[in-house]
Amino acid sequence: MQKALISASAHEHGRALAGKAALVTGATSGIGLGIATALAAAGADVVLNGLGDAAEHRNLIEGLAAEHGIRTAFSGADMSKPDEIAGMIAAATDELGKVDILVNNAGIQHVEAVETFPPQKWDQIIAVNLSAAFHTIRGVVPGMKSRGWGRIINVASAHALVASPFKSAYVAAKHGIAGLTKTVALETAEHGITINAICPGYVLTPLVERQIPDTARARGLTPDEVVRDVLLKAQPTRKFVTTGEIGALAVFLSSDAAQSITGAALPVEGGWTAQ
Ligand code: NAD
Repeated sequence: MQKALISASAHEHGRALAGKAALVTGATSGIGLGIATALAAAGADVVLNGLGDAAEHRNLIEGLAAEHGIRTAFSGADMSKPDEIAGMIAAATDELGKVDILVNNAGIQHVEAVETFPPQKWDQIIAVNLSAAFHTIRGVVPGMKSRGWGRIINVASAHALVASPFKSAYVAAKHGIAGLTKTVALETAEHGITINAICPGYVLTPLVERQIPDTARARGLTPDEVVRDVLLKAQPTRKFVTTGEIGALAVFLSSDAAQSITGAALPVEGGWTAQ
């Protein structure tokens, strides 16, 4: 595990999450990076996880540590591999002493009709978007129970609440995460732990950018038509949601003011599921 350590003393006063330790999966890009940055700005120490280039990850954690005066570390664990997930939880606990805030965010997508949807893509999406959260949650709940405080935030999707065609694995995994969220909320409610699912609408991250050409092919549209007539058509605001908005909600859910919010699936989707 890579790590960066900067003294927090100059920064820690008055920040809501000072002294808390967070672990964010899929934090090298998009929404996960937005959440990790928001938690860091609120004073939490943060372990970031994700795939990709080690040198970029070092720059990322060193930049966050320097900017916010917090401790940061990085784990390259693959969220489709339960043994690597267990290793990540152990290393994060080693580095920061505990995991108070767990954000299950890593996610992947594949857009194709169900009858040609490759079975290995199905398995991979269920592993990363759903089963990984089971493995991380079972790893951190004992420590949270022993300290009588914990926050678990699952980055689900509007697709945890409603479906779209050609996304069978993704929609199944996201509906599954909503069920896991409710179940664990009931099991942990008396231990000072909350667990909630944030359900974003479309956020213009690499995950969405990558699916525009596939959706164009699947629906016989141009990429511009996909943005206007498929993505933003779903959202009455006709605007993409931003990573900063999701980060701000994650900070609020991590605060003591949110201690009575648990087991919820919270839409942040410009009115999509109100229709
Ligand atoms: P992204 O592609 O920008 O980032 C995905 C992150 O997950 C990256 O850090 C990547 O390295 C990591 N990742 C992927 N596979 C991994 C694996 N096997 N092990 C470890 N890390 C892995 O995507 P994003 O749009 O920021 O999506 C983040 C989450 O938000 C996902 O769960 C996604 O389903 C959800 N979401 C996204 C949108 C959107 O419109 N972008 C909307 C609703 C929900």
